[in-house]
Amino acid sequence: LTVLGIESSCDESAVAIYDTSAGLLGHHLFSQIELHQIYGGVVPELASRDHIRKMIPLIKQLMNEVNQSQIEPIKVDAIAYTQGPGLMGALLSGSAIAASLAYAWKVPALGVHHMEGHLLAPMLETNPPAFPFIALLISGGHTQIIRVDDIGQYKLLGDTLDDAAGEAFDKTAKMLGLGYPGGPIVSKYALNGDPDRYHFPRPMLDRPGLDMSFSGLKTFSLNTWQNAVKQGVDTDQTRADICRAFELAVAETLTVKCKRALIATGINRLVVSGGVSANRAIRASLTALMQQRGGEAYFPRLEFCTDNAAMIAFAGAQRLQAGQHNPTLNFSAKARWPLEQLNPPSEFA
Ligand code: ATP
Ligand code: MG
Ligand code: FE
Repeated sequence: LTVLGIESSCDESAVAIYDTSAGLLGHHLFSQIELHQIYGGVVPELASRDHIRKMIPLIKQLMNEVNQSQIEPIKVDAIAYTQGPGLMGALLSGSAIAASLAYAWKVPALGVHHMEGHLLAPMLETNPPAFPFIALLISGGHTQIIRVDDIGQYKLLGDTLDDAAGEAFDKTAKMLGLGYPGGPIVSKYALNGDPDRYHFPRPMLDRPGLDMSFSGLKTFSLNTWQNAVKQGVDTDQTRADICRAFELAVAETLTVKCKRALIATGINRLVVSGGVSANRAIRASLTALMQQRGGEAYFPRLEFCTDNAAMIAFAGAQRLQAGQHNPTLNFSAKARWPLEQLNPPSEFA
């Protein structure tokens, strides 16, 4: 089964081809970061228009490359596209392209949940996790701890009560004048930061349960920076020290919450995915946790932590292989779509 994946939920236009026997055949991504940078965040209308401009050329390029690398031209059996959650216009751009190609090629098009894509992304690596596992989804819009028993069997164990972890990284970067998107910049600054200069709180660790909160940390970053400005020490070193303290607080909070989830469920496999899972300190802290517990931590390769189409092609292929299909030419997008509402593929067969 050869599946073309299309991702357009936010500001990345991405395409990939995944084959259930040969694996990932190729993938391409065009990031709109430069387009949105001057606005300090993603402008939805600009994102939609750019997906329309970029997606077809990306698909052509990918198909050409993959065909040149194969003995025989490949035959795409199905198209998997991101149906939600995300920006409505951006999602509709990708869905419409997917549905049109499906019509032209006479193959099914399947809507995939963006977070299911993130969640399954570590399975693209060698040594994929077996079910069941605990998943920590840490991205720009989500921070969730999920019990995963199989594809489409998701139980939400913990969630953020306010900002997502990635959002807190982005806002901290913005307050320090470091630009957008914040995660990669904050982690780069943190490398040169003194871990002992500032101590940030560990939100909600004093309370039982698996819910989290990150808006307080963002405010703590702001107050710390404003004090530094008042004292005339608003330097790059101070920025680095704040980034380090902030990153340590996020890493420790996530690690303690994951530990609680593992103890409560008796599961000893931890999957970590979404853009924030690219963070070095967070990866190290969660890897150490699993080493202590004699379990295993699974991460996507760095380029598949943030948005990509390989994860969408993969998730779609898993569902199609399990018998799920979408016989109509209808397509729709869902801006909001809780992961827990998904069903296992067998229920569509
Ligand atoms: P969602 O997947 O919830 O819909 P999204 O698609 O915008 O949101 P992703 O693409 O998965 O999110 O991840 C982007 C987020 O990851 C941004 O908030 C970004 O700052 C953060 N991020 C990326 N790299 C790093 C890093 N090295 N450290 C921390 N955060 C990072
Ligand atoms: Mg993005
Ligand atoms: Fe994402």
